[in-house]
Amino acid sequence: MANLLIIGAGGVSQVATYKAAANCDVFSKITLASRTKSKCDKIAKFIKERLGVEIQTAQIDADDTDAVASLIKKTGAEILLNVALPYQDLTLMDACVKAKINYIDTANYEHPDTAKFEYKLQWAKDDEFKKAGVLGLLGSGFDPGVTNVFCAYAQQYLFDEIHYIDILDCNAGDHGYAFATNFNPEINLREVSANGRYWKKTHNSTNERKTNWKNDEWVETKPMEIGFKWNYPEIGVKDSYLLYHEELESLSKNIKGLKQIRFFMTFGQSYLTHMKCLENVGMLRIDEVEHNGVKIVPIQFLKTLLPDPASLGARTKGKTNIGCVIRGVKDGKEKQIYIYNVCDHEECYAQTGAQGVSYTTGVPAMIGAKMIALGKWSGKGVFNMEEFDAKPFMDELNKQGLPWKIIEMKPGESYKVGEI
Ligand code: NDP
Repeated sequence: MANLLIIGAGGVSQVATYKAAANCDVFSKITLASRTKSKCDKIAKFIKERLGVEIQTAQIDADDTDAVASLIKKTGAEILLNVALPYQDLTLMDACVKAKINYIDTANYEHPDTAKFEYKLQWAKDDEFKKAGVLGLLGSGFDPGVTNVFCAYAQQYLFDEIHYIDILDCNAGDHGYAFATNFNPEINLREVSANGRYWKKTHNSTNERKTNWKNDEWVETKPMEIGFKWNYPEIGVKDSYLLYHEELESLSKNIKGLKQIRFFMTFGQSYLTHMKCLENVGMLRIDEVEHNGVKIVPIQFLKTLLPDPASLGARTKGKTNIGCVIRGVKDGKEKQIYIYNVCDHEECYAQTGAQGVSYTTGVPAMIGAKMIALGKWSGKGVFNMEEFDAKPFMDELNKQGLPWKIIEMKPGESYKVGEI
């Protein structure tokens, strides 16, 4: 039985807290704390009505390490689940080291003033976690998260060696708005408007873990430069574009024999036109500008104008399909699979009160906490998801509402049906 502290009260938290409550045989006490306590109370009320489980709530500033460490002591928490924003990763990791408890997040650290995300600063805390005798689990959402576990499962159980991975993230949900983002708008737009990047093994690559990513193995592309039409099983054809995504950094280090790994996400043309227009007029700027004597950051102002992602649940219809095309060798023969999950937005909402993107992130966040609570994943230091045995996590995905499937493909086969 574990005592869990969840930080953040947005869409992902709604699902993670609900699912933790649904696993109250494992999580004996759950405290939900965030900047705005009323949002925690709303989630707690929803869960009490649906599941009859009591959630404690508290106000916290996650940027304040000492305040978080005090809250940990007060609640007696043994695991902290960070579903606030990537800006808070470092302070929350420090609080866990200080209070000597385990840490989990779903997105890697970003500095508010620099639209760049990488694991360097979080991996650098490995020694501190080791000394404190606690575990830091990075990226326990869907992508990163389940996608890492899919790759680990393939490496550990299905292939002798993996050579190529394409991670595909398709959201075919429709919320009916002309423009909205399905998770935090600031984080989402920073990610999508950045240059793309993928990893390709060069002759001299060392594959050493925790080295700087800035080497000649990374191929940089302009935003949306590489794209094609991909025929997603159970969904259909969608325009998919190459993006940089954080799991590429850890998987390129941890998957043996890898020659190339890329990440693609689907975007409708209307979303891209809106985003380009917002970018062209300066609304995606992350620096301060002066407006009528007041300093504002344009992308933060835009967040105020856009629909709250947590409010999209009631109006989103359609499905997501996220998975990995993995190609390699088994028993001397070439092998290729597509391993994926399909999630229905309306079903997610009916169950948890949140749409599919929050659901596909919140469920694995809870499973990561459950792996640690049950001692199925253990260790001292900072780890990425693929560094543990994938099997117990894969079993939980099936039990907790994210069932996965495997399609055996012909080696070299592609679902690509055309250029954009
Ligand atoms: P939201 O913006 O909906 O929620 C974020 C929550 O964090 C809000 O409740 C917010 O408080 C709270 N928060 C922000 N700053 C602080 C602070 N300083 N102190 C305390 N609380 C704070 O985001 P989402 O729920 O959509 O996303 C949550 C996380 O999940 C993000 O890190 C996102 O990047 C990640 N994510 C990961 C995915 C994956 O597959 N790995 C996919 C999608 C999202 P307030 O309500 O006051 O604003």
